[in-house]
Amino acid sequence: MTLYPFGMFDSIEYIGSNEMDDLILRAAAILAKAKYAVALTGAGTSTESGIPDFRGPKGVWTMNPDAERQAYRSYDRFLSDPKQWWMERLTGTSMISGLEKALPNPGHLALAELERVGVLKSVITQNIDGLHEKAGNKHLLEYHGSVNKLRCTSCNARFPRDAFDVAKLQREDKLPPLCPQCGGVVKTDSVAFGEPIPPDVARNSMVEAWRCDCMLICGTSAVVYPFASLPRIARQKEGVTIIEVNAVPTPLTEEGISDFIIRGKTGEILPRIVAEIKNSKSIPF
Ligand SMILES: [Zn+2]
Repeated sequence: MTLYPFGMFDSIEYIGSNEMDDLILRAAAILAKAKYAVALTGAGTSTESGIPDFRGPKGVWTMNPDAERQAYRSYDRFLSDPKQWWMERLTGTSMISGLEKALPNPGHLALAELERVGVLKSVITQNIDGLHEKAGNKHLLEYHGSVNKLRCTSCNARFPRDAFDVAKLQREDKLPPLCPQCGGVVKTDSVAFGEPIPPDVARNSMVEAWRCDCMLICGTSAVVYPFASLPRIARQKEGVTIIEVNAVPTPLTEEGISDFIIRGKTGEILPRIVAEIKNSKSIPF
């Protein structure tokens, strides 16, 4: 017998289509009735858009352990020499060009639709790929930042990535870019290893977790803290329903944090939930 890590293949069992239909109907009914539903998303929502993961069998760091070691050092290097850090960004290889070309998949579009019709109040994502924004979500908390933005490390102001001509700043020996609002040092918005979660996003995400009466967890096992505290905060409240859409059971399932799990790809399950909500009479579309 082959042993797989985390026993993940041991726990896969066949879900009959009737059972799946029932769970989708149940999720749709709960979301349609919720007064304040929020979604938490992670890497699983973006794999269908071709975004590579980091630690899977073909992950970015599995294939290139040296890149992982460098990533761990990156924030310290930024703090000690932001000018040099920016110069390395301009010359080094980057994942960003691949992320820029990625497009939202049906899972992202379903979450944007749920917000547009007022069912979902916000999306809190661990993904840095900017695909929820591209899909049209407006109330978006990018917990680990976005590759499409830069951020002032003093006042947390966000800027579009092209707001600064960093190549020109380098030619004029004016790196790192400085915040036009407060003069603070500007860095990429995506949160590096060892870098604190930007305090505004951390606080607002916590507020959403306290406020929600339904939490839809999509494509994440939520094991990395402090993000992982959000479903656990929500669980402490009376009357909250936590629904997981994940490929396999997670610690959230096993620890009873979630009420139930719908097992499958977010790009397939979420559009079906949206379709069911639209079929129900309780939401005026
Ligand atoms: Zn600033």
